Amino acid sequence: MRKNTCLSLFLSLAMLVFMNACESPSGQNQPTSTAETQEAPEYAIVIHGGAGTITKANMTPEKEAAYNQALNEALDIGEEVLKNGGSALEAVEKTIMYLEDNPLFNAGKGAVLTNAETCELDASIMDGSDQNAGAVAGVKYVKNPIRAAIAVMKNSPHVMMAGTGADQFALEQGLDTVPNEYFYTERRLEAIRKAKAREEKTGMIGQRHDEKYGTVGCVALDKNGNLAAGTSTGGMTNKRWGRIGDSPIIGAGTYADNATCGVSCTGHGEYFIRYTVAADVAHRMAYLGESVEEAANFVINKKLVEKGGSGGLIAMDAKGNVAMPFNTEGMYRGYARPGERVVKIYGE
Ligand code: ASP
Repeated sequence: MRKNTCLSLFLSLAMLVFMNACESPSGQNQPTSTAETQEAPEYAIVIHGGAGTITKANMTPEKEAAYNQALNEALDIGEEVLKNGGSALEAVEKTIMYLEDNPLFNAGKGAVLTNAETCELDASIMDGSDQNAGAVAGVKYVKNPIRAAIAVMKNSPHVMMAGTGADQFALEQGLDTVPNEYFYTERRLEAIRKAKAREEKTGMIGQRHDEKYGTVGCVALDKNGNLAAGTSTGGMTNKRWGRIGDSPIIGAGTYADNATCGVSCTGHGEYFIRYTVAADVAHRMAYLGESVEEAANFVINKKLVEKGGSGGLIAMDAKGNVAMPFNTEGMYRGYARPGERVVKIYGE
């Protein structure tokens, strides 16, 4: 009899533990992260302008000032949208458009050149409220690829379009188009010529992945508590054969889900694709109950480092908590919340 009581006690305990586990698939059994105890700010925005060998030693004061100014202006644009009750999607669109138009960054004007000395641009966007997403890859004529990505998301049944079809779609959508030369800058022409000369000398074919990147990205949180994330890039110098990086790939370079976070990545795209970096951050939060800081740091500074992938990311949860980890020397980055503004370039 006593044996039976013990057994049923044990069984009910086991049942309780089992039921608890079933009710907490999102890791509610894990220690509470700061994200869960905080009040969400009215709005928040975080941006990046690429990661890489960005050190004080290889920067002039003028260049540093120009990057600081550009990052601040980008945040101003996004903040203005959010302050006035605009959506996270709109804030991401306007902020990335500014960065695409700014030749300092490897997106839109100022994009890196391919082996054929053309600019081929990639961009993507994701809406955290319904996980709708859009992307374009290898476009050559859309002035603002982020707008084309948004058009794919909103006005087509697809998530991703590539090459001439994507350019054609953008044209039909009434988006601004430009000749490919519009994207060229002296600095990027010099970079491709150097890369090709080096390739000829060493006989080693390859896109450059050991210098600066310069992709741009943005994650925004609006007054309705919705997150959106977007990324735009020219890819990597000397890319060829229609190479596409992680930036237009949902789950690799961009991801957003109100339940976890919004993410935009920058770095050596092949690694970010293989390890589905952006989605991995969100999934660690969902399944392991990690905070956005813990998840983002683990993926960039542990997992990617072990695999040999260089780069960084920005991530933000629906409470406006921000993470900006990178495993390179620097990353152009910044964030803003009401009454708060941070802009950084180097590691510290
Ligand atoms: N991730 C981009 C790519 O591989 C490059 C970058 O972030 O600058 O295309």
